Parts: sequence; C-alpha cells; structure tokens
Amino acid sequence: MTNRSSILKNDQQYVWHPYSAIDSNQPIYPVESADGVHIKLLDGRILIDGMSSWWSAIHGYNHPQINQAITEQLQKMAHIMFGGLTHQPAVDLATQLVDITPKSLQTVFFVDSGSVSVEVAMKMAIQYWYAKNLAIKNKFLTIRQGYHGDTFAAMSVSDPVNGMHSLFANTLCPQFFADSPTCRFDQACSESDIAPLALQLKNHHRQIAAIILEPIVQGAGGMNFYSPEYLKRVKILCKQYDVLLILDEIATGFGRTGKLFACEHADIEPDILCLGKALTGGYMTLAATLSTKHIAQTISNGEPGLFMHGPTFMANPLACSVALASLKILLDSPWQQQIKQIETHLKTGLAPCKQLPQVKDVRVLGAIGVVELHHEIDLQTLQVQFVNAGVWIRPFNRLIYLMPPYIIEQRELKILTMAITKIVSTLDQET
Ligand SMILES: *Cc1c(COP(=O)(O)O)cnc(C)c1O
Repeated sequence: MTNRSSILKNDQQYVWHPYSAIDSNQPIYPVESADGVHIKLLDGRILIDGMSSWWSAIHGYNHPQINQAITEQLQKMAHIMFGGLTHQPAVDLATQLVDITPKSLQTVFFVDSGSVSVEVAMKMAIQYWYAKNLAIKNKFLTIRQGYHGDTFAAMSVSDPVNGMHSLFANTLCPQFFADSPTCRFDQACSESDIAPLALQLKNHHRQIAAIILEPIVQGAGGMNFYSPEYLKRVKILCKQYDVLLILDEIATGFGRTGKLFACEHADIEPDILCLGKALTGGYMTLAATLSTKHIAQTISNGEPGLFMHGPTFMANPLACSVALASLKILLDSPWQQQIKQIETHLKTGLAPCKQLPQVKDVRVLGAIGVVELHHEIDLQTLQVQFVNAGVWIRPFNRLIYLMPPYIIEQRELKILTMAITKIVSTLDQET
C-alpha cells in the first residue's frame, strides 16, 4: 500500500474531521506541505489557497520570520505553566494587543481557542454583574445567523437553526435572539433593522448580562456584511439599558475587513473583545479575551475575588512568540494597501457571477469575497471540481467564499475567481 493510500484508509477509519462523519465518502486530500499561498498535496498537485486555513494564515504558509520566532522560542522553552509564573512572550504580546485594540481594552486573558475565548468573555460578563450584586443578569442577547464557536456557551449564542439547538435542547442554556439586520455594509440602518434587538432589550434587559456580536461580518453563520451604523446603534442601546457589549472579532480581527479590527468601521469600542484565528498567522492555536480595566477591577474586587478560569496551556510561549512575529509582519507590511487590492480584484473577478442564474448575491468586503447561490451546494462534487481546477476553496450551504492570505498576487487571485465563475456556471440550476 502506498503511503498516500494508507493515510487515506486510516484517516477514514479512525479520524474525525470538522463537522464530519466517520467512514464518510467525502473527498479528503492528504497535504504534504504548504508554502506561501500554495498547498502541496501528497499526490504532487499544488493548489492555490483561497481560505487562509479558515481566516488564519494571513501571511501564507512557511513564513521564514515566523519559523525563526518559533525555533528561537523552542530553544528556551516550549511551555511553562502560567499559574504563578510569567514570561516575556506573553507579556509582550499582551502589551501589544492592548496597544493596537480600541483604547478602553486594557487587560488580556489568553486561552487556547476561539470558542474558549467566547466562553471566557461570557463568564467575565456574568462575573461582572455578580460582583455588582446583580447575579440575575446572566443571559445573553445576540442576532440570528451568528457563529461564536462549538463549545456549549458559544453554541448557545450561535444561530439556533444552523447550530442545531434542537439537538442540544436539554443541555444548551436558552438565550435571547433578535433578527439580524438587513442593511448591508454600505447602506444606512433603518428603524426596522434595529427594532428587533431594541425590543428584546426593552423586555429583558434586567436579565441580560451582555450583547454578543460579530462586528460587521457574520462569518460561519452566513457570511453577511451589515452596516456600521447598526453597530453604532447597538452600542447606544447597550449604554441605555446597562448591558455589556462583547465583540467577537475572531474572524474579522487583524485586517481582514480593511480595518485592523472591524469595530473601527463603526468607531465604537466593546467592553469585552474576543480574538483568535489570525492572531498567530495561522501557525498555532491561541486566542485572547480582552476587557476594560473597569470590568477587570469589578470582577477582581467582588466575590469571589478572582476570575474563575485558567487553562492548562494558557499563554503557551511558543504560540505567544509566533503571535508576536505575525503581528510584526502585519504591522510592518502595507496591509491596508494589500487588502484594498484584494478587495478591488475580488469585486471585478467575482462580478461575472452576478449574471449567472445560479447566483443569488455576490458581496465583497476587504479580503472577503462571497458568492451566495440560490440552492445548497453539493460539497462533495464541488470540492473535487475546485481541486481539479488547482484551487483550495471550501464552500458550505449556499456559500462559496474566498478569504485568501494577504500576500496573494493578482494572477493567483484571478485563478481563484475564475475557478469559481467557471464552476458555478456549470452547476445545475435546480439543485
Ligand atoms: C472560528 C470562530 C470562532 C471559534 O473559534 P475556534 O478557534 O474554532 O474555537 C468563534 N467566533 C468566530 C466569529 C469565529 O469565526
């Protein structure tokens, strides 16, 4: 048996993949290596990456500076517990995150994944009100079509339909949902857009600890882009009804939408911010929950006098060093210009899709391009077609989307957008 076929056989038999079944006949491709925007499969084929490994590999793969950072840190220590001990990579990274995020965010809690940073954010909000003798404020309000992760608290505020709340009905904490706004990124926000959220607040604010939202771009819940004005209105409502605002920038953070953080489009600041994905340039799993000094102090001065969370691998030194290297690359680069160029290319490159009968909508913001179809796609068939076209694009539901590494070049972008246009145009219009 060749190496490739034994990997495939054992993979199918023993290994779960994201949102997958064991023994499924979905196509799966062993990867040999990845470099820049290229993914080299074990069968020798080379694909252009349109996904940045789910928003994260913003500088491409196998980056010399990040490789160097991880190697240097490895000589010192791969890991050390964070209880009672600290280290330079964690302190430097926290300092830098406080520096580049909105001003009011002043403390950093490191965790190992995006979902856990959402758990931590929700626990912070609950502990904040508990410390203020308002333990009744322990529910959350959010909008539909959101996605905040796969752990239980994160699931409870993700879209009830996409997130299969019915399946976990007896274990998930019930939360409050409002219809998501229909105002697009470049549109004004009308009263009818904000009314559902305002109504939930009016009726339930006494129980609500925080509103949690993905600012501007709703990612895995539907890839919708909404108006910054909506976010401004949400911020005002939070103040009015005395609820905290948690922004989940796990997908949007670090430049993807054209601003370093998407909340900058609306010129508002959250009380708590979740970061992850591109934080390490796609190298390692690391996330962070930032909060205001006021929240941190209220929690620390209240009962029980400490924040009740502390992962084993908190602030892993390798991951923190990698994140510092990734941030340096980003901030030293002309990233605004790169994103603008990607945006311009995605707009022209995906424009022909608008004419196709299979397509319901095409939308582009920053380095994110979305083609929404009328019907759900057949992932299995489409995946094979994309790979055969030399591109790595992984659609879901009715959505085919691109979020390439920022270093991608025009000709590579062209291959990605042409592959989408061509393959979508051949899709059966009825299925
Ligand atoms: C991916 C994502 C998460 C979950 O992060 P994981 O690292 O997969 O746990 C949470 N929120 C948003 C907006 C995301 O895109």
